[in-house]
Amino acid sequence: MKYVLVTGGVVSGLGKGVTASSIGVVLKACGLRVTSIKIDPYLNTDAGTMSPFEHGEVFVLDDGGEVDLDLGNYERFLDATLTKENNITTGKIYQSVLDKERRGDYLGKTVQVVPHITDAIKDWIESVALIPVDGKQGHADVCVIELGGTVGDIESMPFIEALRQLSFSVGKDNFCLIHVSLIPVLGVVGEQKTKPTQHSVRELRALGLTPHLLACRSAQPLLDNTKEKLTQFCHVPAANILSIHDVPNIWHIPLLLRNQNAHHSILKQLDLLSIATIPDLEAWNRRAETFDNLTDSVRIAMVGKYVGLADSYLSVVKALLHACIACSLKPSIDWIAASDLEDDSAQLTPEAHAAAWKTLRNAECVIVPGGFGDRGISGMILAAKYARENNVPYLGICLGMQISVIEYARSVLGLERANSTEFDEQTPDPVVIFMPEGSRTHMGSTMRLGSRRTLFQTPDCLTSKLYCNPQYVDERHRHRYEVNPDVIGVLEQAGLKFVGKDETGKRMEVLELPGHPFYVGVQFHPEFKSRPGKPSAPFLGLILSARGQLEAYLGRHQNGS
Ligand code: GLN
Repeated sequence: MKYVLVTGGVVSGLGKGVTASSIGVVLKACGLRVTSIKIDPYLNTDAGTMSPFEHGEVFVLDDGGEVDLDLGNYERFLDATLTKENNITTGKIYQSVLDKERRGDYLGKTVQVVPHITDAIKDWIESVALIPVDGKQGHADVCVIELGGTVGDIESMPFIEALRQLSFSVGKDNFCLIHVSLIPVLGVVGEQKTKPTQHSVRELRALGLTPHLLACRSAQPLLDNTKEKLTQFCHVPAANILSIHDVPNIWHIPLLLRNQNAHHSILKQLDLLSIATIPDLEAWNRRAETFDNLTDSVRIAMVGKYVGLADSYLSVVKALLHACIACSLKPSIDWIAASDLEDDSAQLTPEAHAAAWKTLRNAECVIVPGGFGDRGISGMILAAKYARENNVPYLGICLGMQISVIEYARSVLGLERANSTEFDEQTPDPVVIFMPEGSRTHMGSTMRLGSRRTLFQTPDCLTSKLYCNPQYVDERHRHRYEVNPDVIGVLEQAGLKFVGKDETGKRMEVLELPGHPFYVGVQFHPEFKSRPGKPSAPFLGLILSARGQLEAYLGRHQNGS
């Protein structure tokens, strides 16, 4: 196994994850099989309990792992299926060491950060690197490891030490360190400053790690004399200093790396030049350029709770982008804080209320994405009602599907207090209820997580046609509540159709409203499996429908063209 370690210096938020996944893309384009590991030095065992407000979205894997959103970037860029083990946190490592200690596996020894924690990190990396993530047999050729945080952080010290030991034990032909750093431009003179990078490289070297390549984030391409300085003071050959300057969209990054021959430097360091091919990035090239040249925007209203931070719905945003590009459209996402649509807001914040409604009425389609807790629920119900009554294409994801059920029960069945027991435990009409998959008495990990199969009840439904599979689809889940099986009959009689169910037939997975151009609710999160060049079916349906192209598209598909 060959390792590429990506560390970060100077400041966080440099786009280290995108750089690391782009390195994976370029190596994959050279014919190599690539896997990846993300190290998050925080104490949480996983991202499941972290607030999207603070940390961005929680990404969900096939195996039910709730992980850092960077794993989503890796999956999308490498078109891979990662496991929860591919995300290492301090919490996970300590938990494994403490479990061993309690079992008495350390035979009476004093258990210490060095060597026990560091050994656990090394063992974890070496075993996880061997898990195939590309659907093929056998392990990958290269494992890209991204160390979260910034070099010098107290909490990343045990990881740095473990990685130093790993670099030594695997040998120099099997280890390549790429340090991502910042080159700021200061003052009127506009000079590119190398000092922060010099310091962070010095820090890395003091910890026993020497970078083989520097990936320098900057606004403009690096100037020759900036590179010269870096070479001189950081001990990195000029050919290995990469300029990661601002580009119009992130799909340019693999191209930027390739154009600077980054793959050559990495392959040389890893002694892989003889087996690698010339990188073929034609598809990336095409996509990046198409994206740059899109002019026709489609207005999408996103009605949610965490609208302050775009990263809270990162995969939904990416899925919309993939779907829009497939239709040669540019996504123009209007974020609407659901609570601004509510009647209360008309009194308390009339301007925000008016603006929210204006944006909603202007939208060509509406999305209500996933979420937890009762804030903004009435606003979401109003948005679903508006979309349903005005024939505006609507996609409800997870919570968004539950919202459409509540709305339908209230408006069409006349059950004014219909609700989910998540928001009103006393509701006389619980149309969405707590339905743990396992034991009802066991309170821990009651979330239904990861990949589950949805069986289409009829091949005629829109969703199965969009998925190009008349029988089933496997998508990822993250929820506790579900449509109450007891109310399906009345809802269906009133026109709402549950066209996708789980294998027991008790859990509703997909709803549609016949007669409406596109009114779809999915209990799963299709956004997690959307890929550049392979848009997710429900998102594609929404965008096509927003432009009145859905029927033509389905017609073309049925004819096999
Ligand atoms: N809060 C809802 C539930 O737990 C929806 C979850 C979600 O949208 N991910 O079922």
